[in-house]
Amino acid sequence: MASRLQIRLMTWDVKDTLLRLRQPVGEEYATKARAHGLQVEPAALGQAFRQAYKAQSHSFPNYGLSCGLTSRQWWLDVVRQTFYLAGVRDVQAVAPIADQLYEDFSSPCTWQVMEGARTTLMQCHKRGLRMAVVSNFDRRLDGILVGLGLREHFDFVLTSEAAGWPKPDPRIFHKALQLAHVEPAVAAHVGDSYRCDYQGAQAVGMHSFLVTGPEPLDPVVKNSVPKEHILPSLSHLLPALDHLEGSLPAP
Ligand SMILES: [Mg+2]
Repeated sequence: MASRLQIRLMTWDVKDTLLRLRQPVGEEYATKARAHGLQVEPAALGQAFRQAYKAQSHSFPNYGLSCGLTSRQWWLDVVRQTFYLAGVRDVQAVAPIADQLYEDFSSPCTWQVMEGARTTLMQCHKRGLRMAVVSNFDRRLDGILVGLGLREHFDFVLTSEAAGWPKPDPRIFHKALQLAHVEPAVAAHVGDSYRCDYQGAQAVGMHSFLVTGPEPLDPVVKNSVPKEHILPSLSHLLPALDHLEGSLPAP
């Protein structure tokens, strides 16, 4: 009889899996702008942010590290571009807002722990799983996790800034497996991005679970992810893990 699968390492995405922003980016930017005497519509800032972030990620992937930028410079540029696209052309007025926003997004107060995250992390811990973070994030992540009381659950926090490659690049997953001394076949990743998390982890031979939330599934996800890998919320993780390890009959 084949021996039963036992997952030894669980790796975690962070944004929109364990943590989310307390308020939308546009609101956050508009509040800080107002405090510096600038009135800008949150919706305009939100839309401009998405555009600026996408363009910056395309031109300078992974915080522009290979182009000589620091992640802080990279983010300050995103903020400057965001305000520019939202119609604010006064670069000098935006500079202190950009500094402030960089600090604020480092603060645990800007983030909130997703529902069920603490309980699920504790249950995974009790089960004897080793855990680590694998996140497309910059150097501020460790401090945020410490501030929110989550850091203690993880053996290590591997950001794309530290690894040098963002998910879904296989090298960031390989790096995590190497740090944990664990083979991919006994490791599983949890995240909310089909491409970066689900496919990225599967591509290196890890198991993976996709956190989808309660909304109807995207047709691509529905057609390509087995339903036992889909987590409508984090409270579905332990049952899904039991199923994966074969302790429950297939549904
Ligand atoms: Mg995410």
